[in-house]
Amino acid sequence: MRTPGARLLIVGPPGAGKGTQASRLAAAYGIPAISTGDIFRENVRGETELGLQVKSFMDSGSYVPDDLTNDLVADRLSWTDADGGFLLDGYPRTPAQAAKLDEMLSRNDHDLDAVIELVADTDETVARLLKRATLEGRSDDTEDVIRHRLELYARQTAPLLDLYEDRGLLTQVDGLGDIDVVTGRILGALAQRGLKAA
Ligand code: AMP
Repeated sequence: MRTPGARLLIVGPPGAGKGTQASRLAAAYGIPAISTGDIFRENVRGETELGLQVKSFMDSGSYVPDDLTNDLVADRLSWTDADGGFLLDGYPRTPAQAAKLDEMLSRNDHDLDAVIELVADTDETVARLLKRATLEGRSDDTEDVIRHRLELYARQTAPLLDLYEDRGLLTQVDGLGDIDVVTGRILGALAQRGLKAA
């Protein structure tokens, strides 16, 4: 039997607004938003062992190795707050991560309920990231690094969406426009799949 809540992924290029939408959706469904990028950044800030291991990958806009990322997610999904569902933001990003996520879920007899793709064009996302660079000072928001992150997304992560489409899980949502409007679009698309917010 399905437990309440929902098991969701949010996927999209850097700058599409995943983090902002993820916290709103998580609040609406009463599930934790789990952002691998946020967890890595906290570890870098706190200079933990993991933080020291991942800092150079993050600064250059490269992906953190799959083993480190998979272990982090496996641990986080074992917390009791994720028993009834979760929203993963920024994971999986590679075929190996997608395979590992399947394994983690099937071990607990769980399935994903939907995969939200936040669609945004490149010019807009680059402009947003450059703006964020001046506001937040993230070390990976410089122009060269942004280009590298977009390229990695197109090459390694976007192809994963075919997999979820084949499984009938993919919901594409236009990520451009007012934040509230985008949230409304996502909630509407999920409700159409029978996933009503709490
Ligand atoms: P994000 O905040 O999702 O844009 O992630 C920021 C950075 O964290 C990425 O550029 C990667 O260096 C690292 N990262 C976050 N999630 C992953 C992941 N699933 N696999 C590999 N690296 C990741």
